[in-house]
Amino acid sequence: MDTDGIVIRIKTPVGDMDSPVDYPFLLNFNDLLVAIREVMPEATVTAFEYEDEVGDRITVRSDEELKAMLSYYCNTMTEQRINGLLPDPLQIFPRAGKTPGIRNIHGLKVNTRPSPANDCAQTVPNAAANNSLKKSSAELKRILSNGQINGQDIEYQEQLGHGNGGTVYKANHLSYKRVLAVKVIPLDITVELQKQIMSELEILYKCDSPYIITFFGAFFVENRISICTEFMDGGSLDVYKRIPEYVLGRIAVAVVKGLTYLWSLKILHRDVKPSNMLVNTRGQVKLCDFGVSTQLVNSIAKTYVGTNAYMAPERISGEQYGIHADVWSVGISLMELALGMFPYPQIQKNQGSLMPLQLLQCIVDEDPPVLPVGQFSETFVHFVTQCMKRQPKERPAPNNLMEHPFIAQHNDGSAEVVSQWVSHSLEERRRLQV
Ligand code: ATP
Ligand code: MG
Repeated sequence: MDTDGIVIRIKTPVGDMDSPVDYPFLLNFNDLLVAIREVMPEATVTAFEYEDEVGDRITVRSDEELKAMLSYYCNTMTEQRINGLLPDPLQIFPRAGKTPGIRNIHGLKVNTRPSPANDCAQTVPNAAANNSLKKSSAELKRILSNGQINGQDIEYQEQLGHGNGGTVYKANHLSYKRVLAVKVIPLDITVELQKQIMSELEILYKCDSPYIITFFGAFFVENRISICTEFMDGGSLDVYKRIPEYVLGRIAVAVVKGLTYLWSLKILHRDVKPSNMLVNTRGQVKLCDFGVSTQLVNSIAKTYVGTNAYMAPERISGEQYGIHADVWSVGISLMELALGMFPYPQIQKNQGSLMPLQLLQCIVDEDPPVLPVGQFSETFVHFVTQCMKRQPKERPAPNNLMEHPFIAQHNDGSAEVVSQWVSHSLEERRRLQV
């Protein structure tokens, strides 16, 4: 099945309502029904119909029937594309339940006045109709993107990596043949805490940025939580060797945009580091593993002791911290990726980034390292130096980051540079493995 996004056109009595659905494979019948009810709040919609190739109407009342419709639609969409046509949206026709009038088998008459607001089949002035359609568009997208995912739909494949807390697998979503990354974390916690984590993760559904990994859902099976996200075929940046500055510039732009987006939602990332920056062969760079669930972070911390080497000095010394701590982590990560080694040579990171606290004391006590000027451009050296100021307030403020010449100069909207570099690096890796 084609796994690209589709457009669903809900045919309502007051006009058409188009809504993009980025991940049709996550859509379930109930979500779509809720979305239709948003557009037609006055009607009792219990099912909807679509038209097959000869124009016959087929009713959809369940997840199974929805899957059949999507499968039929995706096939026609592929055909249209092969023929060089732009695919038509998937048109659906909501079916309202029987009106009270029809159900009134004894024909009892009550004197009522017709009210346009209560009957959506009635003609509504165009402007008002358009307004209400516009208003529900955002809401509709939110509902349609809120798909559910569960353990039965997932077939685990190879392990992608292992961190402090969990193991990440490549996996297939069985019904829709879409590849996912599933992080499985063992957690011995009460059902109450499980519920709290699930509700804290809800905010991830709202994250909608090209610089943040897409979240598809999470579920508990016994004492393990599985967190399903989009799979990035280039993996994380920690496994790449030294990254050239012209590529790193584009990566920095995406990281800054991703963080600016999270901060706008009042989310601190708290774990910015190369292994939480993912890339793909399309040239996209996305952030993952940000701490939206305090309970999840606390539960993992109980099992894994240590301090993260990418943390800002104020965090290592246990002081209060804020956005500026994320900015430090951007600086130290970019420096490591540029040099191909952790910038504090006295800190030997073996596996993972958690270290005994005493070993990180030099980050608090010493002057931060500086990139060698001869090897890197002045703007890059300046950017990293600014991000790694020991005093949090001296680091660039969030709204100044985008304006820094190093970021501004690489903010050309092109994915080509990263795309080619990722593809080339993967090719090289494959060649060396053979
Ligand atoms: P930590 O647990 O300290 O955060 P980590 O980030 O290395 O360390 P995980 O988050 O468990 O550990 O990730 C393990 C590895 O799995 C990553 O380093 C990355 O290579 C891979 N990985 C994680 N998410 C994805 C994804 N969405 N697509 C592809 N690979 C991924
Ligand atoms: Mg990670």
